[in-house]
Amino acid sequence: MPNNVTVTETENVADLFGSKVFNAGVMRKRLPKHIYASLLKTMKEDLPLEENVAEVVANAMKDWALELGATHFTHWFHPMTGVTAEKHDAFISPTEDGKIIMEFSGKELIKGEPDASSFPSGGLRATFEARGYTAWDPTSYAFLKGTTLYIPTVFCSYSGEVLDKKTPLLRSMEALDTHATRILKLFGKDVKKVTTTIGAEQEYFLIERDMFKKRKDLILTGRTLFGAKSPKGQEMETHYFGKIRGRVANYMAELDRELWSLGIASKTRHNEVAPAQHELAPIFTNTNVATDNNQLIMEFMQRVAYRHDLACLLHEKPFEGVNGSGKHNNFSMSTNTGENLLEPGPKPAENKQFLLFLCATIEAVYKYSEMLRINIANAGNDHRLGANEAPPAIVSIFLGEQLTAALKSIETGKPVKEAKDLVMELGVTTLPKFIIDATDRNRTSPFAFTGNKFEFRMLGSNQSIAGPNITLNTIVADVLADYADVLEKADDFDTALNALLQKSVKENKNIVFNGNNYSEEWVEEAARRGLPNLKNTPEALAEFTSEKNIKLFARHNIFTPAEMNSRYEIHLEEYSKTINIEALTMLNLAKREISPAVFTYTKEVLDTLVAKKAIGAAIDDSAEATLAERLSKLSGELIKAIDFLDETLAGVENAKNPQAEADYFCAKVLPAMEALRTVADSLEEIVAEKYWPFPTYEDILFYV
Ligand code: ADP
Ligand code: MG
Repeated sequence: MPNNVTVTETENVADLFGSKVFNAGVMRKRLPKHIYASLLKTMKEDLPLEENVAEVVANAMKDWALELGATHFTHWFHPMTGVTAEKHDAFISPTEDGKIIMEFSGKELIKGEPDASSFPSGGLRATFEARGYTAWDPTSYAFLKGTTLYIPTVFCSYSGEVLDKKTPLLRSMEALDTHATRILKLFGKDVKKVTTTIGAEQEYFLIERDMFKKRKDLILTGRTLFGAKSPKGQEMETHYFGKIRGRVANYMAELDRELWSLGIASKTRHNEVAPAQHELAPIFTNTNVATDNNQLIMEFMQRVAYRHDLACLLHEKPFEGVNGSGKHNNFSMSTNTGENLLEPGPKPAENKQFLLFLCATIEAVYKYSEMLRINIANAGNDHRLGANEAPPAIVSIFLGEQLTAALKSIETGKPVKEAKDLVMELGVTTLPKFIIDATDRNRTSPFAFTGNKFEFRMLGSNQSIAGPNITLNTIVADVLADYADVLEKADDFDTALNALLQKSVKENKNIVFNGNNYSEEWVEEAARRGLPNLKNTPEALAEFTSEKNIKLFARHNIFTPAEMNSRYEIHLEEYSKTINIEALTMLNLAKREISPAVFTYTKEVLDTLVAKKAIGAAIDDSAEATLAERLSKLSGELIKAIDFLDETLAGVENAKNPQAEADYFCAKVLPAMEALRTVADSLEEIVAEKYWPFPTYEDILFYV
């Protein structure tokens, strides 16, 4: 069994759950009644936090953390890099007698001042204006990790520009709340708050740490830059939902317990399609918390792997030739009264409120599909999208038969026959009968309606879910705002609603596609429908600051135009830097590991050839001669490919701006990398195993 297990198998899961979280239960116990009530109001109804409340909460939080062994606290935030950031401060405060007391004030809880200069700002802030602030986000609970109290915060610059992913996410949730409650009021509902909910399914690879350590490409870039196909890949289809090997099962058990202790409801675990690939899904929660939780899930996947002598790969495409990893962002909206606004109920075609929220989401996705595409664009995800393992780069919506029929009925005004419950008959009397779902699954759709939520499946495994959800919330809020404007003015609500829904269905049905998104025909059909097909990251990012997008985010006070521009630049830079590092790593490996290995092996073959030749014509030396010839030819090509990549990389300097640079990396550097890889992989197939400098795909993907 691994060392360092912080929780034991015998522990009661119910007691363990949330034991390291300063959650509502702990607050109720430890805070005076009026303080608790006031904080709850802040959390549940977005009311501002009062200073005296913060003081009392800080003290209770500190006492709780100290009892659990904490020595430090940190403001934990989400800078624009997509990972999280933290700086720890000890609770200690010196006293006159040369000792210390453990202190934590309301001010320290509410506000932190990290030096902001080394976080990317995309030109928003010059280095000399280094001051940045973090501010407590009371809607996400503080928690304990190791001996540090983590306080979820937002991050902004001295002059108020937003430097993180959390602030715009919270703003977008508020925008959706504002307009969704307007709509619900028209339906006669007394709803105080609408929250978006997210369940993010996380895919990952787990490999042996020894293998990981031997591959510089995995260490530096997260993916293998070389590697011939393994003789066995995923073609037997035995790994998906397959038996979980013991080592991995131990890992998963410990991971679950770590996550449970942090109040993260890790629910589902299973093997995925590719060998060594797995998935974890938590139970959904509000988007803000789900975003924090997903970052912690990714962090603990890696930490726990380390303890088990494993390495967790979160890259979107760690291995060529087998599936990459994604993240499924299950999205819905729910009220403070517990109603899921995307729940169709037994008669969806008659459920006008549901149809309104459905149509609003469809319209939003149709109008702003580019922005959704842009948000999930990065160098890693470019390897997956459209590669017959993940949705294509074209955004479309799967609704299934029943809802498609319901929309048809809105469009034509003709009533639809509600589907009867279908009972599954298995022909075995002892087996229980059950009602089957109205629609089958469609695994190829990028944005699928799945029962009572939409599943946005284009996200890369490594990405923060904040970006896509900022967009999702904002675009749905935008359409709901339009709907509310129309309906609030209407003389007759029902008539206006019917007309509005009919118009929406007619104008937006083009985005609905229930067929196979992996097929070539769909790409052609989508082009006929005029759906955007932004094939790679630079192409997608070029649309980031289109007038339409700038106006959208400004309209809802999510991003100023300057903040949009900064994000555009940061994403471009991130793309270019990623590929630059990958290209340099390839060159390093090719020159310093692969070439020498090939030369040594070639020499051995040549030595044998020479030895045989010395004996004379009686000995057949054709094998050595042929092999030496092949090796020499390929090593010649290898050196050429190395030089070509070197030259191509040098050409980056001529790019005039960040967009041109990203375009160049995509159009020129990537193909040069691909060419080098092809030669190296051919060599891997003929060079003796003992000479090959790093583990091969079969070594890595199949372990016990
Ligand atoms: P799948 O078959 O895609 O694995 P599941 O039923 O397991 O689907 O659900 C996947 C995810 O969707 C889980 O994280 C689940 O909690 C989440 N989910 C379920 N209902 C909602 C909802 N109303 N809002 C957001 N996410 C939800
Ligand atoms: Mg799913």
